[in-house]
Amino acid sequence: MVNVQYIRQDFPILGTTVYGHPLVYLDNGATTQKPRQVVEAITNQYYTTNANVHRGVHHLSMVATDMLEQSRETVRQFIHAGSASEIVFTRGTTESINLVASSFCQQEMRGGDEVIISTMEHHSNIVPWQLQAQRKGIVVKVIPITDDGILLMDEYEKLFTPKTKLVSVTHVSNVLGTVNPVSNIIRIAHDHGVPVLIDGAQSVPHMPVDVQVLDADFYCFSGHKVYAPTGIGVLYGKREWLDRLPPYQAGGEMIGTVSFEHTTFNQLPYKFEAGTPNYVGATALAVALDYVNQIGMENIAAYESSLTQYALGQMSQIPGIRIFGPTSPSLTSQVDKDSIDKSQLSIVNCKLHRGSVISFLVGNIHHLDMGTLLDRLGIAVRTGHHCAEPLMHRLGIEGTLRASFGIYNTREEVDALVSGIKRVANMF
Ligand code: PLP
Repeated sequence: MVNVQYIRQDFPILGTTVYGHPLVYLDNGATTQKPRQVVEAITNQYYTTNANVHRGVHHLSMVATDMLEQSRETVRQFIHAGSASEIVFTRGTTESINLVASSFCQQEMRGGDEVIISTMEHHSNIVPWQLQAQRKGIVVKVIPITDDGILLMDEYEKLFTPKTKLVSVTHVSNVLGTVNPVSNIIRIAHDHGVPVLIDGAQSVPHMPVDVQVLDADFYCFSGHKVYAPTGIGVLYGKREWLDRLPPYQAGGEMIGTVSFEHTTFNQLPYKFEAGTPNYVGATALAVALDYVNQIGMENIAAYESSLTQYALGQMSQIPGIRIFGPTSPSLTSQVDKDSIDKSQLSIVNCKLHRGSVISFLVGNIHHLDMGTLLDRLGIAVRTGHHCAEPLMHRLGIEGTLRASFGIYNTREEVDALVSGIKRVANMF
């Protein structure tokens, strides 16, 4: 069970007011607020154990190094990777995808080779491939979606050719909330001998993830969306792939030996961690993962699912509202049984058919106008294209409002959103 009132006490910002109204923070898809435990871990490390990692024989450096490696182990356990050497610390999802795009394309792709992405990708899973298209002449192919925001799996299968070298798709859409059938996506790709990168930015904070059960070749996420600070994130890669790929950036720590004639590279994961890593961020990420683990990822999934269902129910009664993404509670019956991940079974059982993200428009009120007026009521929602312009084109819109929930949101806050929307709509 999730005791939300108890959890909320850990997040001082939730007790603040905006324009005289209690803050209703519904922009968790963009970034989450931080619990005291995470903020205190950052302060403590700087006050008591700060030193650069890996390079020192002195006490503090060794303590800091141990903490970094312990954090790596915490991440490993959290996403159920086989080895801590498969966990690369990055700045976040964007850097993780850029790393794979750069190293994978350099090593594995030639002009004319193809990467498959989907219509619902965040720009950070589109533009890195387009850069490679410009630089190396690779071809980007796109899985289409239904009007409800569900991947067309038959069309996906048809995209494979002998030139397909990689599939890169999001686990959960940051706009539609669609939970993609990633096990199935991966199985189909593997049947074609093609590896898969999964963007877990919107899944890791909200549901249990097991990269080995999924059989993902690469999986990435951002710390700041899972109650950790900005500037720290993760790339998981199967050892066989990480071993095979060349370094992404060059500098200290990623080397074995350096001479002016020849340089060798460090073992995994350090080969991909050039320069001083964000070791304090890594500690704070581990504290954040411990924090959500204590609540239980299954409990979080169940709680957020029921909150999202409640919100969908309440919001769908607002006159003139248009909600994007899968709204049908019977969605799972439309989805091929195989396509439900084992790691998602518990979530399916607790009726999570979509992530805790609701994008919407009301009548012909511009999303920016409504977002600005909701803000005046203390309600923080995101407006715009959500870094998914191609998806907006597919939906035939410029942008939406987006409410996205975290572990501290309540039904009362959903009610505040609904009455805020009605109040703003009445002003037009
Ligand atoms: N992918 C998805 C699905 C996202 O929602 C986001 C951020 O909103 C990103 C990638 C990029 O994450 P970051 O900006 O933390 O690198």
